[in-house]
Amino acid sequence: MTINDKNLAEGEGSGHPAVSAPSSPLTDTHAHLGHIEQRLGPEGLENLLETYRAAWAAAKSEKTPTARLPFIVDIGTRPGDLLPRLDRFGSLPYLRFSAGLWPGREVFADPKACLEQLAADLRHDSCCALGECGLDYFHMEAERERQLALFEAQAALAQARNLPLIVHSRDAFQDSLGVVSTLGGRIPVILHCFSYGPREAEAFLAAGCLLSFAGNLTYRRAEPLSEALRVAAKGKAFLVETDSPYMNPMPGRGKASTPLDIGRTYAYAASALGQELSELVKAVQERSVKIFRPGIEGAGGQG
Ligand SMILES: [Zn+2]
Repeated sequence: MTINDKNLAEGEGSGHPAVSAPSSPLTDTHAHLGHIEQRLGPEGLENLLETYRAAWAAAKSEKTPTARLPFIVDIGTRPGDLLPRLDRFGSLPYLRFSAGLWPGREVFADPKACLEQLAADLRHDSCCALGECGLDYFHMEAERERQLALFEAQAALAQARNLPLIVHSRDAFQDSLGVVSTLGGRIPVILHCFSYGPREAEAFLAAGCLLSFAGNLTYRRAEPLSEALRVAAKGKAFLVETDSPYMNPMPGRGKASTPLDIGRTYAYAASALGQELSELVKAVQERSVKIFRPGIEGAGGQG
């Protein structure tokens, strides 16, 4: 796929020089379509889906292998949210879906029932990963021990089902590391919206994790994140995501984002690594396909 460059002015507050972002849609391994619709309305969501649909139609007519086509992973957070999403979007080939329990109040009312439902949802063919789940000691919607127990149960479930695990970790470095370390690198473990520094990056990488970088990579004072990216890049162990509608990359900070904003994060990542943008896009695409679309035409092996 060709990448058309357009110049982006340096955003106010950006910690990086001006970069050129690709205008064609790219793979985004972490987005929340339902939240995007809440923020941008049905037209905002429709515009997003139409852009990916058109990219797939154009690439298919050029006989581009499926493994090279951009896709979005729509991430679950709540008990029972998988089936309604599949009903609505399950037929769209450029979408994949995860299911998981974010450590929020709703889940802790009856964690056992929520885990049982999750275990059933994970059997669905269209469900390609478990997450997001993890520890949030910033919002602290349940005490530490209860969050840990829920996270450990989901990590064990991901391993039993041989599914990638998508981890949310906020102000919870040591405990998150403790849980993912028990998995011993047997399944892909993705630290989503990585927000720690290079020292924590080293520790997660040593535990066999991948780090996924969102729009906050482009924010002022995000140099520790760029350093973490450089550390992860050495081991070819990073992904790029939006976490949309959150974390809009500069110059969109504060506005609702969609996967159509991800080009700016790829561009900033390439500039932080001193790498050719097209090379970085290709490498991240190959990595993302292996993890989230294993077995598709041209994907090169099972993830
Ligand atoms: Zn998320």
